[in-house]
Amino acid sequence: PQSATSSAVKTGRMIVISGPSGAGKSTVVRKLLTDCSLPLALSVSATTRQPRAGEVHGQDYFFLPADEFDRRRRAGEFLECKEVFGRGDWYGTLQSQVAAGLEAGKWVILEIDVDGMRSVLERYPDTITIFIHSGGIDELERRLRTRNTDSDDAIRRRLEVARHELAYQNHYRHQILNDDVDQSVRQICEILLQLGA
Ligand code: 5GP
Repeated sequence: PQSATSSAVKTGRMIVISGPSGAGKSTVVRKLLTDCSLPLALSVSATTRQPRAGEVHGQDYFFLPADEFDRRRRAGEFLECKEVFGRGDWYGTLQSQVAAGLEAGKWVILEIDVDGMRSVLERYPDTITIFIHSGGIDELERRLRTRNTDSDDAIRRRLEVARHELAYQNHYRHQILNDDVDQSVRQICEILLQLGA
């Protein structure tokens, strides 16, 4: 049914990119947005966690106070949302971000976790799912320590989550081993171009 309408109406596509934190996901996505010739748009998520150094409100995330996040969640503004890391930090995809992109015919990229991917797939079964990883847990730990933005405790928690996430990589249609950012960007762009052809 979707293909019957897509020739007449300009419709966008949904892309979910997941992967353990520290795998270089954000760097790859940022470069993909500038380097790939498709009309890509990033869905900026909302979160209650504190901004890291250099993160910009409205660009990396909408950083919301917990009560505002909760109010907007109850008002049904999120396509999906969840509490991550079990420490009370909420993350969610705003319906408005997705709708604006799709209506403009964009390929909307959601950089979200495995649970988010599942919820999005229920709503948009044609979502293109991509998992980015950087090899095993040891390599991930090395990267997180090099990045130097998280405490030991936070790193331990992130590695725990990463183990959980890595276990789900086969649930994604495409897997990318991010050895080299440029190469990963080219690989993903190629996958998308083939789907769009
Ligand atoms: P970080 O705190 O490192 O920016 O992100 C932590 C985790 O939250 C990552 O695995 C990221 O993919 C996930 N995440 C970020 N935004 C969202 C969102 O809107 N929904 C869901 N489900 N997960 C998200």
